[in-house]
Amino acid sequence: MRADSARVHGTWYAGEESGFIQRIIVSEFIVQKGYYNVESVPIAMKYETESRAQSNGTDSRISTSESFDVVIVGGGPAGSAVGVFTARYGLDTLIFDRGNSSLQRCAFLENYLGFPGGIDIETFYELIHDHATEMGCKLRSEFVEEVDQLDSGRFKITTQDDDIVEADRVVAATRYKSEYLRELNDEGEMFETRDRGGKQRNNFDCKYPDEDGRTPTDGLYVASPAEDVEIQVLSSAGHGSRVARTVIEDVRREHGFPDGISDYNDWMRRLGHGRDKESMRDKLRGKINRDLPDDVDEESLVEIRDSEVDRRLDRYLSQDKIEHRTERGHDRLLEHIDDDRILAAAHEIKSERRTDSDRQGETSERDETTGDHASNI
Ligand SMILES: Cc1cc2nc3c(=O)[nH]c(=O)nc-3n(C[C@H](O)[C@H](O)[C@H](O)COP(=O)(O)OP(=O)(O)OC[C@H]3O[C@@H](n4cnc5c(N)ncnc54)[C@H](O)[C@@H]3O)c2cc1C
Repeated sequence: MRADSARVHGTWYAGEESGFIQRIIVSEFIVQKGYYNVESVPIAMKYETESRAQSNGTDSRISTSESFDVVIVGGGPAGSAVGVFTARYGLDTLIFDRGNSSLQRCAFLENYLGFPGGIDIETFYELIHDHATEMGCKLRSEFVEEVDQLDSGRFKITTQDDDIVEADRVVAATRYKSEYLRELNDEGEMFETRDRGGKQRNNFDCKYPDEDGRTPTDGLYVASPAEDVEIQVLSSAGHGSRVARTVIEDVRREHGFPDGISDYNDWMRRLGHGRDKESMRDKLRGKINRDLPDDVDEESLVEIRDSEVDRRLDRYLSQDKIEHRTERGHDRLLEHIDDDRILAAAHEIKSERRTDSDRQGETSERDETTGDHASNI
C-alpha cells in the first residue's frame, strides 16, 4: 500500500504536469486504496507543486524522494491524528515514531471514546498507525535526533541513523523529549529553565506554541507537548486534529486562499435524496462566493474557488457509497481483532441463527397442524 502512495507522489514530482496524467495516476491510487477522494488529491497536489516551484525558483527537490510537505515527529495519538488530517488533504506526510512514549506506559485504555470494553495498547497503537498510513502517511520507526532550518526556510530532519529528509513543515508530537528541536532555539525562547526538586532543568516551554499549535518559528508546529491537553489520549488526539487544521489553513493561505475560505474542515456529508453532484456544484459555488471578503476580486480566484468546490463536492456521499464504506470499515476493523475472537463470535452467531431457524420451523409446523385441526372442525 505504501508503495502506491510513493508512486503517486513520485510520479507527480517527476514533473507530470498534465492534469490528465495526474488524474489517472491518482485514480489508480484510489482504486487500490478503495475509497480515496478522487478529486481533492490532485487539486491539493496541484497547488502544492505550484508553491514548491514558486518557493525557490528552481525545483531541485523534485529529484529527491526524501522530501515531504509535512514531517511529524512522534506517532502517538497526537502525531497520528495530525497525519490523518494532513494526508487526507493531500499533503505528502511522513511520521517518525520511535522512543519514549506516554501511551506505551498505559496498562490498558478504558476511556477512549468508542471502545465500550476498552482496548489494549498494542491494538490501539496498531489501529492509529494503520489509520494514518491508510490515509496516505508514510510511517518510519526511526528516532529523530535533530531538526534544523535551512536558509530556504525548509527543515532538515536527521534521524538517529543519520538519514536525512527535508520538509516544508514540521509538527512536533513527542510528549516527553523535545531535545531534537534545540537547533531551532536561536532566540532561546523555546526552552525554559525550572527548578525541579532543587535541580535546574531546561525543558521545552509548553507556552512556546499557541493553542492552535503555531510557533514563532515559521513552519514549525507543536501538537505535543501542549499545555493541559496531553493528559488523556482522547484530548491528545483531539489537539492533534486541531494542529493539523492549522497546518492546512496555513498551506491554503500560502496557495492564495483568502479569508472566508482559508479555514478548513474535513466533513463528510450525505448527498440528499434526489440530489446529484452537478446541482450541488452551483450551490457550493454560490456559497463560496458569498463567503469571500467583499474586497476580493472573484475573477482572480476562479481557479481556487473551483478547486475548493471540487474538494467539497467529493465530501458528499450517496447512500450507496455510505453502505460500501460501512462494509469496508467493518472489514478493516476485523483485521485488528484476534482471529480466535472472531471465530468464537462467528460460532456463537451461527448457533444463535440455527436456534432461531429451528424455533421458526417448529412454530410453522405447529401452525400447520393447528390449521389442519381447525379446518377439520
Ligand atoms: C502510566 C500512564 C498511564 C496512562 N493511562 C492513561 C489512560 O488510561 N487513559 C488516557 O486517556 N491517558 C492515559 N495516559 C496519558 C496518555 O498516555 C497521553 O495523554 C497520550 O499518550 C499523549 O499522546 P501523545 O501523542 O502526545 O504522546 P505519546 O503517547 O508519548 O506519543 C509520542 C510518540 O512520539 C514518539 N517519539 C518520541 N520522541 C521521538 C523522536 N525523537 N523521534 C521520533 N519519535 C519520537 C514516541 O515513540 C511516541 O510514540 C497515561 C499516561 C501514563 C504515563
